[in-house]
Amino acid sequence: MTERIQCIREGCTNTILPATAAKTGGYCMPCKQEMEREERQRYIEANRRDVNLYAGIIDPVETLKIMHEPQVRDPLIRYVPYEQSKEQVYLSLSVEQQDQMKDYAMQRIRTGDEDTGKDILVYLVCYHDISLTAEIPELLEQEIYYPSILYKSASGEARDHLLQQVNTDDEKRNHILLMLAHISDDVVVQQFRQWRQSPPSWASELYVAPEHYTTEAGWELTKDGQRRELFITPSYSLYKVKENEGTSVESFGDSFSLLTPSANCCPWCGGALTTLISLDVKHPALHDVSWHAQQLQIQTCVICSSYGVVYMEMDAAGEPLWSSHNVMPVGMDEIDLDDYGKLAQAAGRQFQIATSSRHAFHASEWAMEPSLSQVGGHPGWVQDAEYPTCPSCSTRMKAVAQLDWGEVEKHGEGMYYMFLCEPCQLTAVSYQQS
Ligand SMILES: [Zn+2]
Ligand SMILES: [Zn+2]
Ligand SMILES: [Zn+2]
Repeated sequence: MTERIQCIREGCTNTILPATAAKTGGYCMPCKQEMEREERQRYIEANRRDVNLYAGIIDPVETLKIMHEPQVRDPLIRYVPYEQSKEQVYLSLSVEQQDQMKDYAMQRIRTGDEDTGKDILVYLVCYHDISLTAEIPELLEQEIYYPSILYKSASGEARDHLLQQVNTDDEKRNHILLMLAHISDDVVVQQFRQWRQSPPSWASELYVAPEHYTTEAGWELTKDGQRRELFITPSYSLYKVKENEGTSVESFGDSFSLLTPSANCCPWCGGALTTLISLDVKHPALHDVSWHAQQLQIQTCVICSSYGVVYMEMDAAGEPLWSSHNVMPVGMDEIDLDDYGKLAQAAGRQFQIATSSRHAFHASEWAMEPSLSQVGGHPGWVQDAEYPTCPSCSTRMKAVAQLDWGEVEKHGEGMYYMFLCEPCQLTAVSYQQS
């Protein structure tokens, strides 16, 4: 039997065969590999160079083209990030530059890079609400059926084509219904109304009734068949102030605050309730909201509303009150508060409300990573659209705001969605995560 010998690396207790030792110079294989890794890392650190792909480029169109180009992965290259985010560069585009990006996107689609082309178009539609009326026939010809938001501006002709196709195309029906929901003109509204009155033969193959698709585009058919918006406009971004900018600039005085701890406790878990947002009803974001109190306050239990919808009513003084309609989700009684961190007192103070509005669908494509926190605007659903039903009048509640928890807490995730029912003066908070 061959005698095993000790690995010569300091601190290592592994033993190896003499044959291995001869090959590795006396080291065991894990040590040998570790040393090679370290060697490689030293080499990378000594030889790595910074590459600034944006050096000397001032045209935002050129900047965006580079941003959309896949970067070659090379450990010896450290890419210098651009000083602005993709979203910021998109927002800076002039109308002429938006057109240039649109042309570039179509060119990418024609040359087979459908994904990049679609991404660019989605940014242009969400951030600038550009019209794709002229491009939609070509997109359809290329058999591009999603994201359905691209079809918002379809012509009557394209719409009629889709209204035909939805009856015959089993495979694409799901996408076509979403596209129609986004087109949402009078003809489409009428068609959804007809489908509700006499369901088409293919309706039985869907998971939900055809008219349910409209909620994905932010509207519903009322009981009497009218189109009703499910979110308020305009949209104002709730953005985080950069640390070095400080929080001294108050854009809307004391009449706006986020994430204020309440003196009231959650009847389910016993933790303190949190006022996610408090905003003066005179703020332009709430222009079309009819609310009795001077402040719109949306309060919830941050822990419990991540398990189920939490409703709040308003007392005579306009202060939020735990609603008697709340139904505790199954399993909630086993929640241990110690499993949850406490929200930092200053968490809300790092946010500001934008001084000017943005497009209604700005944050609607969650996966495109727009700045999501907002008052007003189409929700950025992480999963399917899910508007809570008002427990008092059974109507779908309107989306008023959302908070991206990833921005609030260091290891936070998911989104809190805020809703209200104006006739009942009731609020609701729900939560989704990926
Ligand atoms: Zn070793
Ligand atoms: Zn709770
Ligand atoms: Zn109601």
